[in-house]
Amino acid sequence: MTRLLLIGPPGAGKGTQALRLSERLGVPAISTGDIFRENVNSGTELGVLAKSFMDRGEYVPDEVTNDLVRDRLAAADAGTGFLLDGYPRTTEQVRTLDRFLERQGHALDAVVQLTADQDETVSRLLKRARDQGRSDDTEDVIRHRLEVYAAQTAPLIDVYAARGLVISIDGLGSMDDVTERIVGALAERGISQPVA
Ligand code: ADP
Repeated sequence: MTRLLLIGPPGAGKGTQALRLSERLGVPAISTGDIFRENVNSGTELGVLAKSFMDRGEYVPDEVTNDLVRDRLAAADAGTGFLLDGYPRTTEQVRTLDRFLERQGHALDAVVQLTADQDETVSRLLKRARDQGRSDDTEDVIRHRLEVYAAQTAPLIDVYAARGLVISIDGLGSMDDVTERIVGALAERGISQPVA
């Protein structure tokens, strides 16, 4: 019964950590970025629309993203918990998630903020561009994604901090170190992996 959000700038390592935490905590990792990319790859209507925003480093419109997440959270595997990676990113998305959880009588357990300074995130993203060829990893688009993050998403940390939910984790270091930091901080809050 663990409901978590993972927030951090592009390149902070959210995707990697989300998959590891999902395994450790026994909840599905739901990444809006991955869902959009799957739709781009399979050429759906949603994918065509999402691509036009993603390739410019802009957010996909809230109505589209909110509908997608509401549907995904209504699926059976998310009924007992989830880890949302990359959602919410706007105040409107926060409102939608709040309403959704309230209707279900559920609440968030914690918001994990993954921090990393900009030099490090930009160099990680440029490396990923070389390795994976993601179409939104060009230098200009990366710069714009960071600006959009700072303007629209970073302020959400304060919203969740005011609710006492934020756990801030240093995203620098090896992937294993970062995972252990997060798992340790969650355990301190009484959020731990199910006994196998
Ligand atoms: P990153 O965090 O590195 O930018 P993601 O894979 O999480 O990568 O997201 C890639 C792109 O998908 C974003 O730049 C944006 O266009 C779109 N996207 C993902 N999540 C959201 C969201 N919650 N709201 C709007 N757009 C989103």
